[in-house]
Amino acid sequence: MNKPTPEGKSLSGEKRDRRQSQRKISESVPGIEEPDPPPDNNRSVYERLKQCEADLDEINRVKRKYPMKITQYYLDLIHQEKDPIWRQCVPDKEELEATFNVEDPLEEEEYTPVPYLVHKYPDRVLLLVSSKCAMYCRFCTRKRKVGRIRQIPMEDIFKAIEYIKEHKEVRDVIVSGGDPLIRSDSEIEAILQGLRQIPHLEIIRIGTRMPCVKPSRITPRLVKMLKRYHPLYVNIHFNHPAEITEQSKRACELLANAGIPLGSQTVLLRGVNDSPEVMKELMTRLLQIRVRPYYIYQCDLVKGVDHFRTPIENGLDIMSRLQGFTSGLMLPHLVIDGPGGKVPISPQYIKETTSEQIIVANYLGNLYKYPIARTGTARKSVNKKISKIGLAFNLKKEVAKNERYDKYAEFDDVGTIEAVSKAINVAGYDVTLLEADRDFFEKVKNSGVDFVFNMAEGIAGKSRESYVPAILETLNIPYSGSGVLAQAITLNKSRKKEILSYYGIQTPRFQTFGDLRQKLNPDLKFPLIVKPEAEGSSVGITNNSLVFDIGSLKKQVDHVIKNYSQNALVEEYCEGREFTIGLLGNNVGVRILPIVEIDFSHLPDHLHKFESYESKWIYDNPKDSIDPIICPANIKPGLKAQLERLSQRTFLKLGCVDLCRIDIRLDSNEIPNVLDVNALPGLMPDIRSNSRFTRACYAAGMTYNEMILLILNAALKRYGLLS
Ligand SMILES: *Cc1c(COP(=O)(O)O)cnc(C)c1O
Ligand code: SF4
Repeated sequence: MNKPTPEGKSLSGEKRDRRQSQRKISESVPGIEEPDPPPDNNRSVYERLKQCEADLDEINRVKRKYPMKITQYYLDLIHQEKDPIWRQCVPDKEELEATFNVEDPLEEEEYTPVPYLVHKYPDRVLLLVSSKCAMYCRFCTRKRKVGRIRQIPMEDIFKAIEYIKEHKEVRDVIVSGGDPLIRSDSEIEAILQGLRQIPHLEIIRIGTRMPCVKPSRITPRLVKMLKRYHPLYVNIHFNHPAEITEQSKRACELLANAGIPLGSQTVLLRGVNDSPEVMKELMTRLLQIRVRPYYIYQCDLVKGVDHFRTPIENGLDIMSRLQGFTSGLMLPHLVIDGPGGKVPISPQYIKETTSEQIIVANYLGNLYKYPIARTGTARKSVNKKISKIGLAFNLKKEVAKNERYDKYAEFDDVGTIEAVSKAINVAGYDVTLLEADRDFFEKVKNSGVDFVFNMAEGIAGKSRESYVPAILETLNIPYSGSGVLAQAITLNKSRKKEILSYYGIQTPRFQTFGDLRQKLNPDLKFPLIVKPEAEGSSVGITNNSLVFDIGSLKKQVDHVIKNYSQNALVEEYCEGREFTIGLLGNNVGVRILPIVEIDFSHLPDHLHKFESYESKWIYDNPKDSIDPIICPANIKPGLKAQLERLSQRTFLKLGCVDLCRIDIRLDSNEIPNVLDVNALPGLMPDIRSNSRFTRACYAAGMTYNEMILLILNAALKRYGLLS
């Protein structure tokens, strides 16, 4: 059973095997190792199709490319040519008129750590245990492979089970394929037994199309065996009301009576079920046989399946004609599956959001107001352990004549402080503003706050970002964001790079200059970039920071040491694309936000393509502002996975918590290099402010208030303070 194949879309593991051992096999039918023997009902299939006046030559032509296999039971459900049952199982010449050419549209190979296992989400994996099915659906996401490669060896399945054993974060496995139930009872039992020996594995799901295409496979013996492996769930794949018959009903009843919760996944298919009436009838009838609708999938972008695709509005229309008009129990989620996983799409019920209220439309289109929760009242029920939260910040000031132009670049403006304060307030806490100035210690000590939300950059000293954490730790007050050591390290570019190098995390080669008389390490290759060692927000970086010869290097190093009273960091320049990646949360709950790319293409020729005072000035010019941020960045999944892994490792190795932003740039060999790590990323609410962390959260679908609450909750959870 496939479609977004619950049984799994790409037997990615096979691809790898094939590459090693089967290079000679013709590209048009990749991976043929042991074709299925012709189904023994071939004669009756042809006879039946002939009765319906099918063009057998055409069928044979298509079949040579994409195999045909139809169960006798399913064949008997056909009433006439091109009816919804027919369309699902009989080869059609449109399959050869391919517009898409994607073998693995979900890019599962990227997420395949061991053959036949897809680990795309944090806590659950897809385990592919069969490359065969009882029937080959014409719209199968894996139609180029299913039924055309040798059966998956049991040893490989056990190797994949070992992987699950070693990964304690996996609590849910989806046993899929092909169709897992095509295997013998004893093979299935061996797999379930192997899985059940893993203590951290909580639930097992089986994805199958058997009850729908070959109900006789669901025998009392099979069911008796399955029920020994609870909690076990079965997701079936039904697409049309005509598939619900006495036989499929009986198969589902057998499973349900064994205490197995049943779900159904449905693929939205043109000419099969793309009308609200048909879908509603299908959902209604599924509930009657105790199968709960789970997902409706938009058809994947697979070669040979384009003729089944439907417009998005069609899916949304179906959903809006189910919601409210019928039992909520029969409401599946409509999803698009892709390299990033399943994405739910839904008709828009929120019509307007203001700071006071939201306006929603009900299923009939009538509008209703719902006021936003007010301060105070909700508090007691929100969190019994914490009620008063302090907000530590440094306020942006006007730069005085005798001060450096970028002295307050990192500090927050009133608007941001107010927005954060309001978000915490809306979540039900009292907020006390605590400006982190020289009196901070006394202020916070006397404030009576239970917790501090820290966004203070610190006012003085080379490790200033760690002072507020140090004071709070001294007073034993829990707080959000990274601690003393991580703040001190991430503010110091040299220390940070030394630690990254120790862990083998790629960062440009560098040298620290405390003194002009130092010799340049001959290993370093021009162009080099010169930065103050302990500043953030591109402070101290101008167009002149990129140097091409010794003379200008010396000049720039001298400038940094004099004006910023600190060491100068000199590093090799990465000339490739620049990304920044936000992380939110901790441990397995850490969220890697959509990747931001900084687009330098708008810069005039005389400016180098990196973030400098000049480039920021051009981008932020209110008169003629150019948006340099692309989020989510348009990148290949391979690079995306690489950047995500790199940023997650960096976050962990530097000991950051709750939130952080990591700047990465590709070098001339397209290798990602970590340039910088910011443990106190800016949280400006305005989308025009170029606040990257906020922009990434917005791209992830969060509101500003949700973002602040997620940061707060990540910290509270870390301290065990989330009730
Ligand atoms: C669909 C799918 C899952 C399961 O997702 P749920 O939303 O939990 O049903 C897991 N892994 C992969 C690769 C999937 O495609
Ligand atoms: S061919 Fe097999 S894997 Fe593909 S959709 Fe049908 S049952 Fe599922």
